[in-house]
Amino acid sequence: MTALKVKKVAAEQIRKGLQADCTNCFGLCCTALTIIASSDFPINKPAGKPCLNLQSDYSCQIHSQLREKGYKGCTVFDCLGAGQVVSQVTFNGQSWRDHPNTAEKMFQVFPIMEQIHEMIAYAAEALSYDIPDALVDELSKQLKELQGLTKLDAVRLLSLDLVMHRFTLSELLIQASDSIRSSMIAQLPSAAKNQVFDRSRVNWMGKKLKGKDLRGTDFRGAYLIAADMRNTDLRSVNFIGADVRDADFSGANLSTSMFLTQMQINSAMGNEETRLPFYLERPTHW
Ligand code: SF4
Repeated sequence: MTALKVKKVAAEQIRKGLQADCTNCFGLCCTALTIIASSDFPINKPAGKPCLNLQSDYSCQIHSQLREKGYKGCTVFDCLGAGQVVSQVTFNGQSWRDHPNTAEKMFQVFPIMEQIHEMIAYAAEALSYDIPDALVDELSKQLKELQGLTKLDAVRLLSLDLVMHRFTLSELLIQASDSIRSSMIAQLPSAAKNQVFDRSRVNWMGKKLKGKDLRGTDFRGAYLIAADMRNTDLRSVNFIGADVRDADFSGANLSTSMFLTQMQINSAMGNEETRLPFYLERPTHW
């Protein structure tokens, strides 16, 4: 196996490994975050106050009925494994219930770790693609730095300025996406090459796109809320930051779509025929 292939396989494993393990988390998403009452969550919950459904063992007492009871947002949320890292690494397995003096700090660290894990997920995913060697080097450097941040103590995590990390990574992800999309566009039949591929930040809420071939499109930051994307071909499409709530991906081919998160997919609709990227799981509510 070549060194590049080894890097790709390792990156795939890192990306796949970013899964929430609620059994090793102190219910941080159910406690640390501010939640405003909406169609996704029936009550207001201030930051630092445990949800009324959180049990003493940090499990949810309505876990199997969340959607029926109006807590749809809880079935969408995904911390990418930040919760268990804050609980078990940053705070060494000491819970906010047993050590109330650490609670405030722990709740402040959680959203920071979430952001770091999100950046790690994007960097690792980009490294799993066939991209130019120079980009592999830059992304590997970023990934290593980000992984290092997860090991910092709470005080240092709270003093981090993540803006520069976000900016640098964002530039690299755009380059990776452009490289993959260009390769796909080059393979399309001539007639298909004349369409507009840059749909970044487009407002296509509720748009009827059923059956369209959208390969190679850039949907970065696009509004695709409730769009009808049934049976679309979405290979090599960049979805970073796109809002796909209630978009219907039934029968769609997302197998090589880029920078889709589990949260995005959880917020959308789909079915057994929807093909997903290697690192995403089919939502149980589909
Ligand atoms: S309803 Fe359950 S999953 Fe949702 S915040 Fe409350 S305890 Fe957590």
